[in-house]
Amino acid sequence: MSSAKYEVHGSTAVITLDNPPVNGLGYDLRVGIVAGIDKASADPAVTAVVMIGNERAFSGGADIREFGLPKAYALPNLPAVIQIVENCPKPVVAAISGVCMGGGFELTLGAHFRIAKPDAKIALPEVKLGLIPGAGGTQRGPRILGVEGALNLMVKGDPVPASAFKGTPLIDEFVEGDLLPAALAFADKVVAEQRPIRRISEMKVDYPNHEAYLQFARNMIKGVAGPFPAPAKCADAIAASLTKSFAEGMKVERELFIGLMGTPESRALRHLFAAERAASKIPDIPDDTPVRTIAKVGVIGAGTMGGGISMNFLNAGIPVTMLEMKQEALDKGVAIIRKNYENSMKKGKLTQEKLDQRMGLLGTTLSYDDFKDCDLIIEAVFEDIGVKEAVFRKLDEIAKPGAILASNTSTLDVNKIANFTQRPQDVVGMHFFSPANVMKLLEVVRGAATAKDVMATVMQVAKKIRKTAVVSGVCDGFIGNRMIEHYGRVAGFLLEEGATPAQVDKALEKWGMAMGPFRMGDLAGNDIGWAIRKRRYVEKPNIKYAKFADKLCEQGRYGQKTGKGWYLYKAGERKAIPDPEVDAMLVEYRKELGITPRKISDAEIVERCIYALVNEGARIVEEGIAARASDIDMIYLTGYGFPMFRGGPMLYADEMGLYNVARRMQAFAASSGDAFWEPAPLIAKRVAEGRSLT
Ligand code: NAD
Repeated sequence: MSSAKYEVHGSTAVITLDNPPVNGLGYDLRVGIVAGIDKASADPAVTAVVMIGNERAFSGGADIREFGLPKAYALPNLPAVIQIVENCPKPVVAAISGVCMGGGFELTLGAHFRIAKPDAKIALPEVKLGLIPGAGGTQRGPRILGVEGALNLMVKGDPVPASAFKGTPLIDEFVEGDLLPAALAFADKVVAEQRPIRRISEMKVDYPNHEAYLQFARNMIKGVAGPFPAPAKCADAIAASLTKSFAEGMKVERELFIGLMGTPESRALRHLFAAERAASKIPDIPDDTPVRTIAKVGVIGAGTMGGGISMNFLNAGIPVTMLEMKQEALDKGVAIIRKNYENSMKKGKLTQEKLDQRMGLLGTTLSYDDFKDCDLIIEAVFEDIGVKEAVFRKLDEIAKPGAILASNTSTLDVNKIANFTQRPQDVVGMHFFSPANVMKLLEVVRGAATAKDVMATVMQVAKKIRKTAVVSGVCDGFIGNRMIEHYGRVAGFLLEEGATPAQVDKALEKWGMAMGPFRMGDLAGNDIGWAIRKRRYVEKPNIKYAKFADKLCEQGRYGQKTGKGWYLYKAGERKAIPDPEVDAMLVEYRKELGITPRKISDAEIVERCIYALVNEGARIVEEGIAARASDIDMIYLTGYGFPMFRGGPMLYADEMGLYNVARRMQAFAASSGDAFWEPAPLIAKRVAEGRSLT
C-alpha cells in the first residue's frame, strides 16, 4: 500500500505524505512520491505539484523502523527520489509544517519552491547519529542557505523554526493559516506568473574567500566536536560544494557518509538512539496498556534525594507535597529547592514567573493525612529497612486505592518493601540518581508483584519528568550499582598491585569516563561502599575485596565531605589533590601483604575496570534483571558518566570483539584466581555462536 496520497485539485497535483507517526521516508512512501511525480508529469491537465505532510510533520526523515534492513537502501533510495522530484518538468512546491528533519528537509530541497508555517521545525540532525546528511543536504544546503547557514544547521543538528529563515531564499512564503489552500494558491501563482523552475542543484555556491572561512569554521568545530568526527566532515562536504560540480559534490557527500557509517563513534551514537527507544519498552507489557492518572505526588523525606525528586515533578507542572518528621527538616528542604531555582534564575535559565509557579506547586506537611489524595507517593527516607517498613505500613493505611507507592531505595529489597503492604502490586522502585533534579537516569525497579499498569504508568511519568527510564529486576544494587561494585573492586586490586588512585582515575578519565572510581568514591562518600562491603563480608564471604579501602575509612577518610578520602580537598572545593600520605600508606600496605609493586599500564587499568562492568553486565542480562544488553548501556551512559562515543560497556565489548574480551577475562581469572573473571555464560555462549552482546 502506498503511503503517499495523490489527488488533483484544479490543475495542481497534491502528493500527501502519509506514513504515521512522522512521515518517515520508508520504502513505500518513497515509491509513492515517485509514482505521484510520474503521474503528475504525464497528466497534461496538471500544471504544478504540491508535496505536503500534516500538522505534525512534513517528514521526520528516514523511517527508523527500516534501520538496518535492506528496505532502507532499496531503490528508489532517498537521493534518487529527490533527484526525480527536482527533475520534474512541472513546478513542485513543498508545503512544510510540523517536523521537517533530516531526509525530510533534504526532500524539500528537491522541490522548486518551499512555503512553510513559521513554527515548522527544520533540522539536519544527522550529526547526532555521527553522520552527515546523505541525500544531497550538504550540496543543496549551501546552494540555498549559503555556506554559513548550511554549516550551522549541519554541525549543530538542532531544530530551528522556519521563521528563522525569513529573508533567505529557502522559504518563498510563510503561511499563518491552513497550509493546503495556501499551497494551492501559491502553485497557481507560480504557474500564472510563469516563474522559472528553480533547481537548487543548478545554483552556484558563491562565497568569496571561502578558504579563510572554512579554516575558521574547522577551528571552531575542533573545539566543540570532542572525539566525534562527523562535524568536521560537514565542513569537508561543504568545501566540496564550493569547489566541485553538484554531481562531484554528491559523490564526496556519499563517500564521507559511508566513511562515517563505519566509525565506532557513529555506531555508538546510533546504538544509543536505538537503545533509548528500546529501553522504554517492556517485553511483556504492550504499549497500549492503560495507565493510571498521576495528578498529585507525595514525597516522603525532604533530604538530598527527596528535594531533587520533588523538583522534577514541579518542573513538569505536577503538584508535590513533601512530608517530613520535623518542621525544620521541611523548611531546610524547601529552602534548598528555592535556592536551586534561584541559581537557575541567576544563570538566565529560569524566569521569576516560572520560579514562582514551581514553588507555588510545592506543599509541605508533617501528616500522612495530606497524602490521601496523592496518585503517586515516593519514599526517600533513610536507607534503613526498619524505617522503610514503618513508612510503607503507614502508606498502606492511608493511601487511596490504586495509588502507586514507590521507594527510592538504592540497596534494599523492593519485594520485601512491597510485602510490608497489603498491596504489593502497587509498589515499585523508582531509583533516582543524585543530584536527582539533574541526573537523567531513573532505574524503575519491577518487583515480583508489581502490576503491569503500574510499570506502564511509571514509565510514562518518567517521560513527563524528562528522565531516561530503564527497567531493572530486583537484585542487590539493581543494574547500575551492582556493576559499579565490581568496577570499584577491581580498581582496588590495581592499587594493591602497584597503581596509585590518581593513576587509575587518570587512565579511565583519559579513556573517556567522566570520573575515575576513586574520585567517584570521594564524591559519593567512601563510607557508603564500606557499609556495603561490611555486609558482603558476612553475607557473601567468597567475593574477594582489596582491603585498603577499609583502612582508609577506618581513618575517617570518607571523601569530599570529610575533606580527605582517596584525595585531599581544600575547604569548599571539589578539586581532588593527590595525597602523598595515601601513597605512603599504600606502600606500607603492600609491604604488609608481601606484594612487590609492578608498573601497571593505562591500557591494563582500562581493560580490567571496563571488562569488570562487561562481565557483570552480561550476568545481569542473562538473569533477566535487564531485558536487553542495550538497557545496560543506557544506564551507564545516562547515570555513570560512561563516554557517549563508546556507546556503553556492552557495545564497547562488541567493538573490541567479544572473543578477545573473553580471552582477556580468562587471563585475568588465571592471574588473579578471582572466580568473578570467568566469562559470564552469556559471553561464552555468544562467542561460540559468533554473535555480539548488543
Ligand atoms: P538524606 O539523609 O539526605 O534524607 C533523608 C530524609 O528523610 C531526611 O531529611 C530525614 O529527616 C527524612 N526521614 C527519615 N525518616 C523519615 C520518616 N520516617 N518520615 C519522614 N521523613 C523521614 O538521605 P538521601 O541521600 O536523600 O537518601 C534517601 C533515600 O534515597 C535512601 O533510601 C537512599 O538509599 C536513596 N538514594 C540516595 C542516593 C544518594 O546519592 N544520596 C541516591 C539514590 C538513592
